[in-house]
Amino acid sequence: MNNFEFCNPVKVVFGKGSIARLSALIPEGSKVLMVYGGGSIKKNGIYGQVTKALEGFEVTEFPGIEANPHYETCMKAVEVVKEKKIDFLLAVGGGSVIDATKFIAVSVGFEGDPWDILSKGGEIKSALPLGTVLTLAATGSEMNERSVISRVSTREKLNFASPLVFPKFSVLDPEVTYSLPARQVANGVVDSFIHVVEQYLTYPVNAKVQDAFSEGLMRVIHEEGLKVLDNPNDYDIRANLMWAATNALNVWIGQGVPQDWSSHRMGYSLTAQFGLDHAQTLAILLPGVMTYMFKEKQAKLARMGEVVFGIADGTEEEKARKTIAACEDFFSRMGLKTRLGECGITEKDLDTLAAPVDKQGWKLGEHHNIDSRVAREIMALRL
Ligand code: NAP
Ligand code: FE
Repeated sequence: MNNFEFCNPVKVVFGKGSIARLSALIPEGSKVLMVYGGGSIKKNGIYGQVTKALEGFEVTEFPGIEANPHYETCMKAVEVVKEKKIDFLLAVGGGSVIDATKFIAVSVGFEGDPWDILSKGGEIKSALPLGTVLTLAATGSEMNERSVISRVSTREKLNFASPLVFPKFSVLDPEVTYSLPARQVANGVVDSFIHVVEQYLTYPVNAKVQDAFSEGLMRVIHEEGLKVLDNPNDYDIRANLMWAATNALNVWIGQGVPQDWSSHRMGYSLTAQFGLDHAQTLAILLPGVMTYMFKEKQAKLARMGEVVFGIADGTEEEKARKTIAACEDFFSRMGLKTRLGECGITEKDLDTLAAPVDKQGWKLGEHHNIDSRVAREIMALRL
């Protein structure tokens, strides 16, 4: 196991009716900016629950955060924060709203163009405090220090991380996820599953605790994921998926282990250039990474197959191959596509899709050996 320092300061309030706890979680007298998305919260009752819980606070609303949140929109929110002298941000939504709120939080006090935070690793010295009401189980953003933002004008999607954007609290009521469209439920299942894979499916460092937690999370997400679309109002399924997704990317299972994240980073350009849903990019690319890096990942792939998919027969190599097929089958059963061609992407698009890896100076994967050339070869396996 590698050395690590661990701290996750996020207070989680989990369960039915927990939105009512908001008033006790936000510091008294705060001037709150309530950040939300395209209006789903107005149709499913979440807006009413939140505004009732915020009675007594001075609240300004900032709706209109897009899926794959736009830098341009976040900059408008920064103006509102300054004008209204906001001192607390409340994100009500999925990963996009939460990520946008994190970027707003660090942009307010940033000297220079906040895009530098994403494109040049600009140093973050301050952030407004934020809390979240999660409405979609997927990203773990409610309990982590990461954020992913897109810039429409340049068709770029980039991320940043800072301990300053861990939410002060996150409210997780599984009942609010009943209203999600099937596509978003499936996206959440696949995204959270692949978050675990990106931290688990690397070279072994004998980290038994992390491996055991990761294997448990993948089993739960696979089992409950296959049930949820047919049982959308089952509280236990929703609760288990929600808590699994949070734990899949809340810093915990990634301690002391090598991490991959190449599917995620390569996927950014599929979203920025072709508008694919985040999870959709991963369902296509992950089997490519598994295949291309087969030798390096074989031992862990075989073990994952045994524990997650019950693959009992065959040599280590055979089990590892079956695991890749089982992952593809899982993503297909959730309703996601697993090939670039199914999304209208062809060979001629690959150079532009792979280019951001070199442009950003990324060396992806746990061995830091994926540059644009390798990324293109991985993508070519998924045409
Ligand atoms: P999302 O983009 O936040 O939301 C997708 C859609 O679901 C939106 O149209 C939203 O509508 C709708 N929705 C949300 N909750 C709903 C509910 N309870 N009922 C009905 N509709 C609902 O999806 P996401 O998968 O959570 O976030 C994806 C983003 O997170 C991507 O940009 C991805 O790159 C990023 N990400 C971040 C991390 C991280 O660690 N920070 C990790 C992985 C991915 P409204 O707009 O109306 O709310
Ligand atoms: Fe993700």
